[in-house]
Amino acid sequence: MADAQYDYDLFTIGGGSGGVRGSRIAASHGAKVAIAEEYRMGGTCVIRGCVPKKMLVYASMFAEELGHAAHKGWTLGETKFDWATLRDFVNGDVDRLEGLYDGTLGNAGVEVFSERAVITGPNSVRLASGKEITAKNILVATGGWPLVPEFSGNELCITSNEIFHLDELPKRLMVMGGGYIAVEFAGIFNALGSDVTLVNRSETILRTYEKDIVDRLPPIMEARGMDIQMSAQIKNVTKNADGSLDVTLTNGAVKQVDQVLVATGRKPNSEGLGIETAGVELGKKGEIPVDAYSKTSCDSIYAVGDVTDRVQLTPVAIREGHAFADTVFGGNARYVDHSCIPSAVFSQPSIASVGLTEAEAREQYTEVAVYTSDFRPMKNIFADRMERGLYKMVCEAKSGQVLGLHMIGPESAEIIQGAAVAIKAKLSKADFDATTAIHPSMAEELVLLK
Ligand code: NDP
Repeated sequence: MADAQYDYDLFTIGGGSGGVRGSRIAASHGAKVAIAEEYRMGGTCVIRGCVPKKMLVYASMFAEELGHAAHKGWTLGETKFDWATLRDFVNGDVDRLEGLYDGTLGNAGVEVFSERAVITGPNSVRLASGKEITAKNILVATGGWPLVPEFSGNELCITSNEIFHLDELPKRLMVMGGGYIAVEFAGIFNALGSDVTLVNRSETILRTYEKDIVDRLPPIMEARGMDIQMSAQIKNVTKNADGSLDVTLTNGAVKQVDQVLVATGRKPNSEGLGIETAGVELGKKGEIPVDAYSKTSCDSIYAVGDVTDRVQLTPVAIREGHAFADTVFGGNARYVDHSCIPSAVFSQPSIASVGLTEAEAREQYTEVAVYTSDFRPMKNIFADRMERGLYKMVCEAKSGQVLGLHMIGPESAEIIQGAAVAIKAKLSKADFDATTAIHPSMAEELVLLK
């Protein structure tokens, strides 16, 4: 396919989920493709996000399971936890996955440049080494970057970029924020043995999730030993001679901790990218505005994933990269439907959601019916844990079409994925009810909702 006028048909900037998928599929359609990645192939999800985080979630669950096992007939010897062993195992697996990503690109015939690239015009990029390259199309997939608010001493804090590499398990960890990253890492480090404080600027965590579901989480987190400071912000952080940090909150509280994790959102990674040289203006947050087909205002430049600030989720970036490649190189113009995207928070217990919340449904539909199951999962009964699960289904009242499903409880992410297919297919509450339960399971509650 290569157009002799250019060095490549496609030059991709950013080797994360969206960039790798877009490049690989473009190459499979016959395009001559190169990709530049300035850090490590795999991007946030593989290198310092979803994948190593999920491994830490699994590891943190061991602590709990060990405790239960001791009450159910198991004789355990002395148990102690070594952070460095876990950290090195997780980072070793990340190295393995990075190698797989490199291999995938190599097998697809994509040329890899392990350096930064900036855009110098509609069809040109410059590598950090100074090499100038031309391309018929450019795909920007540079992802996002942690956003750290201004406060005195913020340079003493860490973000999710650093947390996977800590020398020691912090005895005392303060987490700032009430979103995905804050809640997930608070749960992980609490279970691993840290004394965790979560500081959230409002009275609500996980603001975009169904309120009834989210309201269950803070009391559970507190019962598990975490200190939740709502309606508070960090005012300043100072470092003591022994390396510990004194944190003053806006509510007057002062706490001494060993690490402060700032998890207050992520901004599109577009600074210094040079896209304005191609006439593309960035949005207010630094996002690259694109149309449904991920095309920017410049016909030859496309952008996918977090840098576009549409939906900051890996599977979405992958779909956008794939749809871009099919559209531009596969003769199959298609775009990603951003509605009804299932998502999960790997808190302890986990939260999962797909479709509209009750409040959103009531704004869009005149008659809404809500069904719930408030239950104590058998797993929790067996483990003498008092925590209850809550499943909530939001339907259009007349047709019974399921508009949204929201859950808190063990394994919610695993359970909702299958149900999300039914909801995406616009099935109704009657279709759920017509399905026989698998007993005993937590998932059976989905077909027994009242
Ligand atoms: P989120 O957008 O999820 O949450 C940001 C949190 O920080 C909110 O509680 C917000 O409060 C708070 N906040 C924002 N600005 C400030 C400020 N200036 N001072 C104090 N608090 C502030 O961001 P995360 O960093 O947790 O995660 C980034 C993205 O990564 C997510 O959007 C998500 O898409 C993705 N992610 C997904 C995961 C998953 O799928 N399981 C896991 C981890 C990350 P308020 O609500 O008041 O605005």
